[in-house]
Amino acid sequence: MRIVSKLPAVGTSIFTTMSALALEHKAINLGQGFPDFPMSEELIGLVTKAMHDQYNQYAPMAGWLQLREAISEKISFLYQTPVNPDTDITITPGGTYALYTAFTTILQPGDEVIVFEPAYDSYIPAIELNGAKAVRLSLVHPEYAIDWQQVKSAITPKTRAILINTPHNPTGAVWSEEDIASLRSLVEGTDIIIISDEVYEHLIFDGRRHCSILRYPDLFSRSFVCFSFGKVYNCTGWKLGYVVSPPNLMQEFRKIHQYNCFSCPTPVQVALSSFLHRREAYLQLGQDMQTRRDAFITLMKESRFDLLPSYGSYFILATYDRISQEGDNDFAIRITREAGVTPIPVSAFYADGKDNKVIRFCFAKKLETLEQAASRLRAV
Ligand code: PMP
Ligand code: GLN
Repeated sequence: MRIVSKLPAVGTSIFTTMSALALEHKAINLGQGFPDFPMSEELIGLVTKAMHDQYNQYAPMAGWLQLREAISEKISFLYQTPVNPDTDITITPGGTYALYTAFTTILQPGDEVIVFEPAYDSYIPAIELNGAKAVRLSLVHPEYAIDWQQVKSAITPKTRAILINTPHNPTGAVWSEEDIASLRSLVEGTDIIIISDEVYEHLIFDGRRHCSILRYPDLFSRSFVCFSFGKVYNCTGWKLGYVVSPPNLMQEFRKIHQYNCFSCPTPVQVALSSFLHRREAYLQLGQDMQTRRDAFITLMKESRFDLLPSYGSYFILATYDRISQEGDNDFAIRITREAGVTPIPVSAFYADGKDNKVIRFCFAKKLETLEQAASRLRAV
């Protein structure tokens, strides 16, 4: 039986590939982004309790109402924007699904979406599967800042959306108020929709403020804003997230969601409805992750890797030109084999494989993992 591939140029994702390689070589996996420390026992207890209390049937299509109410409260506490739990929030099976469904909701064949590279691996396939074209713009290496003049020139009558991501995977760059102002001046008076990937909203360092689109009512009125509980509660395997948008956009989003997923696991939503009120659980996340980032930076000081600044996310980039002139893919594979530490080659975040000879390390790890990994990397 032969079928025509919808993604002929795509193979297995870099995260799957590198995690398999790490396993094969028993390397420390600083590649795929996931914490290796335990999540909250209390939250596990709440899910178990919800199951025992028989919250085991379908949740409402848009999500457990008390969870949507808790999210709305959180948004008004953090970003001072009123968000209606009935009409503006939908619980999704993860952030990736929220992004994909947002694209499916708005894209028609031939539409264009502006995407910044390096780009998280799911963005461009999601755009192309929906018959649209990704207009790829490079963040300016090594700061990975947006060249707003370039964005202005890339906008055409076909531009349906701009995809943004702050804090940014893989670079750890974060948006400033100037970025918001530039975005605003470009979209004002147009029909351009903003799809905002904010899964790392709490993982922001050095006292910086997360420029959530939810803070700016004029921008929110044209946006889908996507989140992931996996990143908030150290449970990436739960694959639960949510999308926030104004009602006219959400109505169309739900038409698709109701047939592609219908609803997400009930016990987890019941548990999160109460746990989300514990503000300290998410408020201390940034500090916790900053401590891990700082430990990794200190441990890597004596290495021949040069770390670039990371202001948020799970990730920090490194150049290695004092060690090797190899391409980043070959180098990532070689240090997995020879040094026993797995990074991600950043060329995988460019559709054309552009190689600036940069690799990504995930520092969302126990201190002992970071110590062991850095001690191996110092020997490279
Ligand atoms: N966006 C970015 C930038 C990510 O790094 C991730 C993490 N996998 C996601 C979206 C998706 O999160 P989820 O696992 O909830 O789909
Ligand atoms: N977001 C994770 C990362 O960037 C990976 C998720 C996945 O494997 N798809 O490492």
